[in-house]
Amino acid sequence: MKKNSLALTFLGAAGTVTGSKTLVNYNDTKVLVDCGLFQGVKSLRTKNWEDLEDALEVSEVILTHAHLDHCGYLPRFVKQGFKGFIHCTPITAQLIRIILLDSAKIQEEDAERANRKKYSKHEKAEPLYTAEDVHQTLKQVVTHEFHEWVVPGPDLRFTFIQNGHIPGSAMVELHAGEKRLVFSGDLGRLKPLIMPKPKPLPNADILILESTYGNRLHSVISPFDQIEKAVNQGFKNQGQILIPSFAVERTQEILYILLCLIRDKKIPTLKIYLDSPMATAVTDVLLSFYDFLKDPELRSVMNRQLEVVSDYRASQTVVAMDKCKIVIAGSGMVTGGRILHHLEAHISKPSTVVILPGFQALGTRGNDLASGVPDIKFFGKYYKVKAHIVQLDSLSAHADREELIEWVKNTGQLPDRIILNHGEETASHSLKLKIEYELGVPVLVATPNMHYVIDF
Ligand SMILES: [Zn+2]
Repeated sequence: MKKNSLALTFLGAAGTVTGSKTLVNYNDTKVLVDCGLFQGVKSLRTKNWEDLEDALEVSEVILTHAHLDHCGYLPRFVKQGFKGFIHCTPITAQLIRIILLDSAKIQEEDAERANRKKYSKHEKAEPLYTAEDVHQTLKQVVTHEFHEWVVPGPDLRFTFIQNGHIPGSAMVELHAGEKRLVFSGDLGRLKPLIMPKPKPLPNADILILESTYGNRLHSVISPFDQIEKAVNQGFKNQGQILIPSFAVERTQEILYILLCLIRDKKIPTLKIYLDSPMATAVTDVLLSFYDFLKDPELRSVMNRQLEVVSDYRASQTVVAMDKCKIVIAGSGMVTGGRILHHLEAHISKPSTVVILPGFQALGTRGNDLASGVPDIKFFGKYYKVKAHIVQLDSLSAHADREELIEWVKNTGQLPDRIILNHGEETASHSLKLKIEYELGVPVLVATPNMHYVIDF
């Protein structure tokens, strides 16, 4: 009788947190779990230009969620010849349409700028992919509800299970013959603010677990208290309250907190301007798929206080308004987007409050602001930073070290082995030691292109 063969290859998110791609090779079937873009430092970003070997041999992509580091390589993969299905949940399908089209627009604008300024080392700078590539990619998407089993090959099946990270996100339970694998995807918080809680870990022989916060704990300071204090300070000085934000999940979380604070009369009834077309589109998807504003009082506060800023001209009008107001605009790390115009106009006023609602990567303006730089550059000119900067410590869509261990511990039967991916090396290795000590399960840390053969 022919023996079964099963192997995993970690093509991305190994030793780092971006570029998620894990190839599952079961007998003659190859499926790819996630197809993410590498982001951050240049040495990682250049990997996006390398072709994925076997593009034509992969029969399906299984997508855990709509963040770019998990889905952003898809149009490039399709361009290389991938013709199979892209499986995801219905909300993920809606979100990747918005996110991939935005990503293509940025790629096209970057290439266009490089050609105009002639700073590309290549003859002619090309975008990694275009909107046309994204439209082709979207044609290959098929959606599945949570817990629906899908059979991509003989003796191979998988299902999506709610994992609480962002709307539509899922862990993947995959059965290859008698072997049971679980890919955690990015695991959400155990006590989330607006997301449903992650479902328990199903029984698995092997767990592929993310480790973004493998060596850290989230702060216990309440984001409600921090935002309340910051908004009240801005109101006292009749200044601008500016919140750079990520379009998916973070904007809706911030909105939820602001609406709760207004409902509970903890902050004044200020107008909230949502000045981000992408965040507005995502908020609409979320409100139609699952209502994160179930409380009718919150809905009516939103209807009264929220103003969606439609186009660029309207955005300029809001920038010029001097009255005290709250603005939520992209991008989350102040690297681009409409927030730049608001900051350019108001960063040098001591009455302005800037709330940074999450992690700010090194080299971004958000990181500079968080670390207290005296001046900052917008559109080729330096501006003095006189605004009060508040960094929120506790908003995160990822489980921290304790939550990851807690989630694994509460399964029916511990896995035989855990493989850690999606973490910086120090985070993954620290979590490995802790899991081995606390749970007694052997742990392997994935390295780039690691090939792991599973014995039957
Ligand atoms: Zn994610």
